[in-house]
Amino acid sequence: MDAINLAILSQSERSNPVERMPEPNAFCQTLATAALRGSSITREEALRVLTDADLPLLPLLDAAFQVRRHHFGLGVRVHILNNVQNGLCPEDCSYCAQSTSSAGEVPVYRLKSDETILDDARKAHDSGAFRYCLVLSGRGPGEERIDHLASLVTRLKSAFPMEVCLSAGLIDATQAARLKQAGLDRYNHNLNTSESRYGTICHTHSYADRLATLEAARSVGLEVCSGLIIGMGEGPDEVVEVALTLNRLNARSIPVNFYVHAPGAQLGEQNRLTPEGCLRALCLFRFLNPSAEIRAAGGREANLRAMEALALYPANSLFAEGYLNTGGHSADKTMRLIADAGFTVERVDEHD
Ligand code: SF4
Repeated sequence: MDAINLAILSQSERSNPVERMPEPNAFCQTLATAALRGSSITREEALRVLTDADLPLLPLLDAAFQVRRHHFGLGVRVHILNNVQNGLCPEDCSYCAQSTSSAGEVPVYRLKSDETILDDARKAHDSGAFRYCLVLSGRGPGEERIDHLASLVTRLKSAFPMEVCLSAGLIDATQAARLKQAGLDRYNHNLNTSESRYGTICHTHSYADRLATLEAARSVGLEVCSGLIIGMGEGPDEVVEVALTLNRLNARSIPVNFYVHAPGAQLGEQNRLTPEGCLRALCLFRFLNPSAEIRAAGGREANLRAMEALALYPANSLFAEGYLNTGGHSADKTMRLIADAGFTVERVDEHD
């Protein structure tokens, strides 16, 4: 299927098999029932969620909400990122302003001091963060860096009742075990796009490298956090493929990012996503990964626009205070959004 950037297909563009599918309300309820039972939906059903113009958004959101409420109630987990090392990356991910292929000017600094990171963690905790995410630019850490990160994780975990997630690039099982032993809860490494498209967005490492890192994390008992960036020219079938792969990997956390061009990044401007297309994608990830933490992640503000609060029906997690190299809503504004929509902020100390 050609890239359509999650635009919705019109009646004349739809294929015959879609036209023979059940009427919209029954179809949406089928998806909810299957997800609540833990049985999977078919690839055709998944594609219909993304592409059928005759499938109204509200029943779809309601069906996804039934699944979200079953697993997470009305709670929203707010994550705050700390970009603890920025720039100077040897990798060439074409969407990234820190990449070696980027002409953008980004702040460049090596790993922040432990005291700065601990101080930032206190602010994140006081702002209501459920999870504190440490992100480092670079291909992956060496042994000395792993030892340093392990001791930092132990200090963070003993100082604050917050979960800690680390995103430090490619790691192997020995390194993952060292981090797990130090108390790390979760390791992030995004798939970003489908396997077949990966070679067009990055040449310095492979999809197989990414999968191996996720397997290494999983093999030692770290929770896997992995997601994608929607809007980099992929087709709906590729979005479905990523959602199915993350299901196979038992990803407990899935950040669904919506592409925003970071100035200088090689990939450049892409076709704009529609708010409706973004919401359909969040519903799809909920149906295919019912008990995973689904996050309306980077680019939610720019791409969901006035529909932002509706993301909380399929998703149960948001970032606050911006992303790696693009801004986002403050923690205060994010908390207000959650409360205004009738949801509640979930804290680790209230979590069983
Ligand atoms: S996404 Fe990560 S690995 Fe890729 S260029 Fe950016 S900082 Fe480097």
